[in-house]
Amino acid sequence: MKYCLFIDGEERIPLNTYVVNHPYTGEAIGEVADSTEEEMSAAIEAASKAFSVMKTLSSRERANILYRAAEILEEEKEEAASIITKEASKPIAASRMEVERSIQTLQFAAEEAKRIGGEYIPLDAAKGGEGRDAYTIYKPIGVIGAITPFNFPLNLTVHKVGPAIAAGNTIVVKPAEQTPFSSLKLAEILTRAGLPKGAINVVPGDGPKLGKVLIDDDRIKKISFTGSPIVGKLIKNQAGLKKVTLELGSNSALYIDKSVKDHLKKIVPKAVIGAFSYNGQVCISTQRIYVHKQIAQKFIDLFVKETEKIVFGDPFDEKTVVTSLINKKSQQRIMEWIEEAINRGSKVLTGGVMKGNGIAPTVLQNVPEDCNVSCQEVFGPVVIIDEVENDLEALKKMNNSEFGLNAGVYTNDLTQAMEMAHQLEVGQVLINDVPTTRFDHMPYGGVKSSGYGYEGVKYAIKEMMQMKMISLNYH
Ligand code: NAD
Repeated sequence: MKYCLFIDGEERIPLNTYVVNHPYTGEAIGEVADSTEEEMSAAIEAASKAFSVMKTLSSRERANILYRAAEILEEEKEEAASIITKEASKPIAASRMEVERSIQTLQFAAEEAKRIGGEYIPLDAAKGGEGRDAYTIYKPIGVIGAITPFNFPLNLTVHKVGPAIAAGNTIVVKPAEQTPFSSLKLAEILTRAGLPKGAINVVPGDGPKLGKVLIDDDRIKKISFTGSPIVGKLIKNQAGLKKVTLELGSNSALYIDKSVKDHLKKIVPKAVIGAFSYNGQVCISTQRIYVHKQIAQKFIDLFVKETEKIVFGDPFDEKTVVTSLINKKSQQRIMEWIEEAINRGSKVLTGGVMKGNGIAPTVLQNVPEDCNVSCQEVFGPVVIIDEVENDLEALKKMNNSEFGLNAGVYTNDLTQAMEMAHQLEVGQVLINDVPTTRFDHMPYGGVKSSGYGYEGVKYAIKEMMQMKMISLNYH
């Protein structure tokens, strides 16, 4: 792969490089910049200068750039999918889906660019406020520092870059070490689509070192981070008064009520994909399933049967769903967590063994709530299933978590659905869907250790802008 370091509208020759390997074969797939602090600073400077150009573009012009980028990505979608599969070892069918979503995310950003509006404030509601009109407008804030994870290397970068451009900001992206090529490709596409040079810069390399430069630099007006809760908390502590949005991890839960007993054949395949797609390396992967006792055994039998149909193998194979994990360290950690659960009395219904550089899809039962596979984010192909007495017990167990991103509830009981929707301590509740559900224009953010602030194109745009009130005294 040819991409290295992208600053001020062009590919730069970096001082140092590192080799990126394909997680499935271990083979080298390309070399990329191991950027220095000075290179990061040069990118920030380019983005600061480009902000004065971005400010001159109308919302229609910004929308047109985003529409054009979506068109180019559509034309080059097979190449983009192949880059994702190579660097992230994501099964090719899932990579194609990620590219389709990225195209849509760019289109949503283009649409939203044209409807960034404020509101009218009736100042005469306050004593002495008579004779005044007031309204709010939204102004771009400047340079955004984006730090992204490995698991959706294209779409999660678009989720930051699209709103930043729609808002009229510029951006410096620090992609995950394992997956730098998708964001470099995105920068190149946006530049061909007419984005002013310097408006997007991609600086690959070491997270803590380059992250610190972004966080400490006063020219960066906001940090938009997606990644692990541990790094998210670190960034929040370092950022001081700088704006931050943090999109972090979770151990998402799903409740299956007895009222859906006749629909299990339809629900089970969705739950299995929710748990195992891309090895469970998804922030809203279905990790904990609580099933009403009256249908638990039937659900479990169907679930295990369906899990055993999952194809494990080469990510370039069309049928593959589960493949190598991102690295050995992840494989070892997850195996240790599975062993811990077994030692504490959990039953392995299927899986529980290593396969190549990955782990076979694993279903565990009777897992104590304080075991790592239950209370921590596994980020691997492991799901726990437990039966519960009723929805109240399910609710209690679902909320017994340090995290709160998405939760799913399958029920035909409307009162129960609404009751759970209001009581679940998460950012998003999906009724009659698995928690592993995200559409790119919906609001998306976590509570507790799962996040701070919102993404979802329209909501991310507002978080990347400064509200300003203007009042006119006409008396
Ligand atoms: P990670 O936290 O290890 O890395 C994410 C990014 O942070 C990388 O670019 C990395 O280089 C950088 N980084 C590492 N240390 C840093 C530091 N000290 N300062 C600044 N930046 C630093 O996460 P990952 O393994 O790439 O991704 C997996 C995690 O991301 C999971 O927890 C997952 O749930 C989460 N995630 C959340 C969402 C969401 O939208 N909520 C989406 C995808 C992934």
